[in-house]
Amino acid sequence: MIRTRFAPSPTGYVHIGSLRTALFAFLFARHNNGKVILRVEDTDRTRLVEGAVDNLLKVMKRVGINFDEGFYLDNQNQVKERGEAGPYLQSQRLQLYQKHALELIEKGRAYYCFCSEQRLEELRKEQAALKKPPMYDRHCRNLAKEQIAEETERCRKEGRNPVIRFSMPQEGQTVLHDLIYGDITYENKILDDQVILKSDGFPTYHLAVVIDDHYMQISHVIRGEEWLPSAPKHVLLYQAFDWNAPAHAHFPLILNPDKSKLSKRQGDVAVEDFLARGYLPEALVNFVAFLGWNPKTEQEIFSMEDLIKQFDLAKINKAAAIFDINKLDWINSLYIRAKSDSELTDLLIPYWEEAIGTHTIRPFKDNKEYLEAIASLEKDRLKKLSEIGERTRYFFMEPEYAPNLLVWKKSTARETKEKLLKLYDHLNKLDTNTLIYKENLEKDLKNFILQNQFDNGSILWPLRTAMTGLDKSPGPFEVTSTLVSGLGKGEILKRLQKAINKLA
Ligand code: GLU
Repeated sequence: MIRTRFAPSPTGYVHIGSLRTALFAFLFARHNNGKVILRVEDTDRTRLVEGAVDNLLKVMKRVGINFDEGFYLDNQNQVKERGEAGPYLQSQRLQLYQKHALELIEKGRAYYCFCSEQRLEELRKEQAALKKPPMYDRHCRNLAKEQIAEETERCRKEGRNPVIRFSMPQEGQTVLHDLIYGDITYENKILDDQVILKSDGFPTYHLAVVIDDHYMQISHVIRGEEWLPSAPKHVLLYQAFDWNAPAHAHFPLILNPDKSKLSKRQGDVAVEDFLARGYLPEALVNFVAFLGWNPKTEQEIFSMEDLIKQFDLAKINKAAAIFDINKLDWINSLYIRAKSDSELTDLLIPYWEEAIGTHTIRPFKDNKEYLEAIASLEKDRLKKLSEIGERTRYFFMEPEYAPNLLVWKKSTARETKEKLLKLYDHLNKLDTNTLIYKENLEKDLKNFILQNQFDNGSILWPLRTAMTGLDKSPGPFEVTSTLVSGLGKGEILKRLQKAINKLA
């Protein structure tokens, strides 16, 4: 049975790299009809954030990742826990870790370390001065029975507990068989005698991760390359416990296009923020799947179902993945385009409300035709939903713009004004049926231009500008007819009049 896990620390937001880890573990499990487990690694008590699990699960739900064991959201969106191997919160498994740390002491594979913070600090300074890597000097590794008793007593008096350290082998090599990177050999002598149990009785990551992966019967540890340096320590811990280690698959780092490390600044990399900016969950998943994985075909658009079908660890690259926001924009625009006008409108409404005001949008919400018409006009141009406010503000309120924007490049202000006056009279005479249908309006205005022997630009440019106040927008006919459909003929005449006045 394939069993993978996603084991985040509850930091309060979901890093884009974390989404990738969850996605790959999920895809691998689903592809192989296995199980995926959500375990929360909260042993670093300094990094705890209230509500982090709740937030994490909401994000996972939006992007379509679910877990078979561990934490999940019930129908009321309450965080619940399920599965035989729980608890799935590490802070509720302390006794298990403590028991196994003691077992390692008995086996001679771990030892109490009584060194004070102060001594360790001095040691670090000495090593830094000698330009040596910081490493515990194994001061407590071979204490005699009496010394241990004395030190225990001393610690008790000082009111502190010893920690437990793992005895790393001092010679030989440890090999990690990684499914992506192949066999990696580590020299044991460079491995630090890692603390496995802290003085507060909490395990460190290394001990907890090994014990949990074992008891949760994880078959494949799937995680980012940043954990590769930890892997030999884990392999040695499995050996010390006489347990079989799960298979490991580490996937490449995510870098910026300039090859610098992806920022850790929450605002740049939080999945929540990408969603809030109007990247569709499906697009984000599609994009993130390609951060290190590649189907090795031409196909670039993948639904979750496609991904589950095609995901294969053999197609994970060793080279770093490049986080290219332009590619995300492109994928997102394709997903936006694939929505129906009605679906897209529902997605856009919160963005309109935010950019333009709930009050202004309210009248259009019940009968959504106007909003749908606008959404349809912008559909092929939108890269993300949050752009909609800026792009379509003029559909809800009169635009502000500089008078010279009205003047077509081959024309003058005076000429423009004369033409707009003629246009005003002409539009004023048209019935709503001609104005409201783009095709009718287009036919009519082309006729009008022909009869007056105007050139297209000198009329259509100022018309479009008067309606939108923008130098770029959808075309003059669709903008004008859509405006009439939503705000009435009076509105377009008002805007034309305002343009004429500007040219005075
Ligand atoms: N808790 C670790 C993290 O925050 C898990 C690393 C692992 O998957 O072993 O990513």
